[in-house]
Amino acid sequence: MSDSQAQKVESVTILGIGLIGASFAHALRKADLATSICGFDLCAETVKRAKEIGVIDHIAPDLPTSIATSALIVIAAPVGAINDLCEAINQHAKPDTLIIDVGSVKEAVVDAANGLRDDLYFVPCHPISGTEQSGPDAGFAELFENRWSILTPLKRSDQAYEEAVKHAAAIWRAIGADVEIMDAKHHDLALAVTSHLPHLIAFTLVGAADDIETVAQSEIVKYSAGGFRDFTRIAASDPIMWRDVFLNNREAILEVLGRFSEELAVMQRAIRWGDGNALEEAFSRGRTLRKAIVDAGQETSHPNFGRDQK
Ligand code: NAP
Repeated sequence: MSDSQAQKVESVTILGIGLIGASFAHALRKADLATSICGFDLCAETVKRAKEIGVIDHIAPDLPTSIATSALIVIAAPVGAINDLCEAINQHAKPDTLIIDVGSVKEAVVDAANGLRDDLYFVPCHPISGTEQSGPDAGFAELFENRWSILTPLKRSDQAYEEAVKHAAAIWRAIGADVEIMDAKHHDLALAVTSHLPHLIAFTLVGAADDIETVAQSEIVKYSAGGFRDFTRIAASDPIMWRDVFLNNREAILEVLGRFSEELAVMQRAIRWGDGNALEEAFSRGRTLRKAIVDAGQETSHPNFGRDQK
């Protein structure tokens, strides 16, 4: 796919003004890519707040109007909303509308997008960037900079759709992201390993610690060591968003969970039998992988993962 320049869009609508929707709005504004940004959210307070802090220019009067008046629609709601939103888009969007989403799961989004009219151009996308925060106040323009955005285009061969994919890629590049094109099924397996399983482990570990009655709640907080603290950061992520990820990427997650359980059994056995070599070898793989991620520029070696406390 050749590079093309992102064109400024007259009217953008963002459906779901949380962390990612608000960050996208800030990033579009910073790159001067939108004349006017309209916001729609299920929660009236959220959209009001987004307008107050300058994330959006207008509050959508209702969903059909916001869809019918935009040239670019950005779906930034949890993945579970995709079918309902696609149905509304199919009914109300004007011909030639470009639609992108940011969902963490892609096969379910591709399935929904395949049901749209031929004169609508939906390019499924997933920015590999985020924080454990939610809501419009958490958004910031630089969220996507130097991070990957994975595009999983539909299997359409018309020229207009190819142009739409190029336009979507150009928008991501203009707001600082690197673009990768991938098959949706492959995306869902890769992300099950790198994101979904780690979140499941964090949610489970923090839940288990909370359940251990012999360790009082105050001791968990008081003596929380670095490792546990890092898990609580991940486990603080939005429960609705993550519920939808696990419901919509069931197959891939169960596959990697099976592999993980086998590895865990190997570690359990090594600990039981005092097999120090096996433990050391397994732990060394962790250090090597961490270095590879830092070397690839996807993380810094600074303490606290280089994150500020935003
Ligand atoms: P968020 O901060 O919770 O924002 C989501 C917003 O969407 C909420 O304001 C929510 O309203 C609203 N919403 C829910 N259903 C809706 C609907 N049917 N129509 C319009 N708005 C609706 O979540 P987020 O972190 O920005 O995540 C948004 C999307 O980005 C998800 O698909 C997620 O998979 C993806 N993503 C997240 C991250 C991350 O690290 N957070 C990274 C990459 C991609 P209520 O609060 O009232 O429900």
